Amino acid sequence: MAAKPKHKSIHEKLTEISNNLWWCWQPDVAALFREIDPVLWTDVCHNPILLLRSYDADKLEQRARELVLHSRINAAYRRWQEYMHSTSTWGDANAGVLGHRPVAYFSAEFGMHESLRIYSGGLGILSGDHLKSASDLDVPLVGIGLFYRKGYFTQLVDADGWQQEEYSLANPDDLPMCEVQGADGNPLKVAVDTRHGKIHAKVWKVAVGRISLYLLDTNVEENSDEDRELTAQLYGGNQRTRIRQELMLGVGGVRALTALGIYPRVIHMNEGHSAFASLEIIRMRQHDDGMSFYDALRETAAMGTFTTHTPVPAGHDRFDGGLMEEHLGPLRDALGLDYEEFLGLGRVDPHNHGESFCMTVLAFKTTRRSNAVSNLHGVVSRRMWRNLWPYRSEEETPIGHITNGVHVNTWLAQQMRQIYDRVLPPNWFLKCGQKDVWKGFEDVTSSELWETHQSLKNRLIAFARYRLTKQAQRNKASDAEIERLQNVLNPEHLLIGFARRFAPYKRADLVMQDFDRIKAIINNSDRPVQFIFSGKSHPADDYGKKIMQRIVQLSRDPELQGRVAFLEDYDINVGRHLVQGVDVWLNNPRRPLEASGTSGQKVVLNGGLNLSILDGWWAEGFDGKNGFAIGNGLIHANQEIQDQRDAEALMHVLENEVIPLYYTRDVDDVPLEWTKRMKRAVRTLGWLFSADRMVMDYVTNSYIPAAGSVTSEMRLMP
Ligand SMILES: *Cc1c(COP(=O)(O)O)cnc(C)c1O
Repeated sequence: MAAKPKHKSIHEKLTEISNNLWWCWQPDVAALFREIDPVLWTDVCHNPILLLRSYDADKLEQRARELVLHSRINAAYRRWQEYMHSTSTWGDANAGVLGHRPVAYFSAEFGMHESLRIYSGGLGILSGDHLKSASDLDVPLVGIGLFYRKGYFTQLVDADGWQQEEYSLANPDDLPMCEVQGADGNPLKVAVDTRHGKIHAKVWKVAVGRISLYLLDTNVEENSDEDRELTAQLYGGNQRTRIRQELMLGVGGVRALTALGIYPRVIHMNEGHSAFASLEIIRMRQHDDGMSFYDALRETAAMGTFTTHTPVPAGHDRFDGGLMEEHLGPLRDALGLDYEEFLGLGRVDPHNHGESFCMTVLAFKTTRRSNAVSNLHGVVSRRMWRNLWPYRSEEETPIGHITNGVHVNTWLAQQMRQIYDRVLPPNWFLKCGQKDVWKGFEDVTSSELWETHQSLKNRLIAFARYRLTKQAQRNKASDAEIERLQNVLNPEHLLIGFARRFAPYKRADLVMQDFDRIKAIINNSDRPVQFIFSGKSHPADDYGKKIMQRIVQLSRDPELQGRVAFLEDYDINVGRHLVQGVDVWLNNPRRPLEASGTSGQKVVLNGGLNLSILDGWWAEGFDGKNGFAIGNGLIHANQEIQDQRDAEALMHVLENEVIPLYYTRDVDDVPLEWTKRMKRAVRTLGWLFSADRMVMDYVTNSYIPAAGSVTSEMRLMP
């Protein structure tokens, strides 16, 4: 007779749930945590582990009784158990060949939730969304990354509008992670060799639904004080920090998998940071299987897949020969390569001694499959890297593309989800990468869609006022200023959002090029326009900080009547409010430098309309009626003329399309032509730019071929 399962208290159930990040893409579970204690929930940065620490079993029991939460908590727990144990999944039917040897997905950053600050921006959030969809679809995959105790910086805007950076120290006890133990019961450790000794690391495990994410951390006593800090900050330090972090991520990551008894069948390197992983696998094949370097390279490349993420040169790590020899020297010895031969693996022209070692080149040379992150980025990448395949034409350069997508359940607002639940087929969220599932969105009534959108917009505005007030209090602003901030932004007026890194090619100030013109647009009394900005500047980038400061100063300009706002510390939480509440999402990069972009895809899900240059994903998403395009997608050879043209095109589409369409209302004050576009955007773009579709594409076009192939088309260089 089977033993009766032990009764669990609601505290035990919620504790179990809080230790798996699954909860963070279940809006109803997040709502439960918030309802238990809304004030504390905000104070602990939406971290349920910290919330539950303030509520022991009795106190929680009492609170749940007051709020009548028992049945909802029990239902959430049951749903979680079902999720973890279900076997009739997409992956079971379509990724079976990966079986017990998973895909190993390497990335320098992972952004799953604001409480686990091991991401900086787009790349990290993409990795997080990849893990979440792999979990939902049940694709056998493990993630490998680094644990940054101090994360990326927190941005504070001071009284002068200048960016200040703050690093805070995370405590692993407060986070959904546990130390991995070895067979002897002690913490599992790995080490990598350099010419000046070893660097050690321990391994943390984070549960992301069904997926395990392993994070390496050099904060162990075997290391020097300096090396204990090696993995403390994301994108901190200098080139030496960078190569040591990447050595740990790639080589240390493969060693950690081996120590865990995980022998991946496919290696996916998300961006070049982890490309040293290939070299370690080659070394293992030489050592374990007696292969020559080139045979081992061929076999390792066959199981490898590489995603390149940017055409901007600064986005590709390069190291000089000295740093390479200091850190990769021991591995080079083990591979049996001489110095120049080894450096040649990271050079477009292996014989050009003047060329530094590029991680992207190493990744291309040691994986047989590679892809860009949108159709247009594919074209640009083939042009950029064609010299790696000198005997091929540009069109034949073997770099494909898989367009990025976003994890629907993470970015979709709960109110909007209620509409989805009503008009889409049952369990639509298990199939959201499929086109047919989204057809029903056409049936939503315009007034209902508009009301839901307006309530989300109100929520964003309330959030903005709260944040701005707190910031002003910190900066000791006057009472009058604080009162003003409590009334900025009007929910009845058109609201345009813009949030991204302040990188020059993103041109955050494009909309202000003709200042008198944009001021007239903003201050038009019949049809006012409002802007809400957010974004961080790299700590070393004063140019970006100046653009940011200009925007902050505008937001304080009385002439603009509280119609421009800047929200500090753009992170997943701020991002979620923005993409769920704006009417329009503005994106005006210098084409073709935005490889994909994903924030606009999050906006789509919530009914916002994109207003964007035809770059990245929008170049393949825009169909004339599901948003707005800036310009015609042509590029002028002269950058200044290009900027001028795009600024003019932006003003033109604002004045002649966006604003009139928004303010044309029916008798019930609903903008019918606008809501038509909203519905079309959700229906035509939602599935196509979902992370489920993206992960299914990776499985079908990349992982399965890599798992099965040793003989398909070769593209290895000598
Ligand atoms: C989605 C997201 C990004 C990436 O968006 P882009 O369109 O690539 O700029 C960056 N940061 C945060 C916080 C996000 O949520």
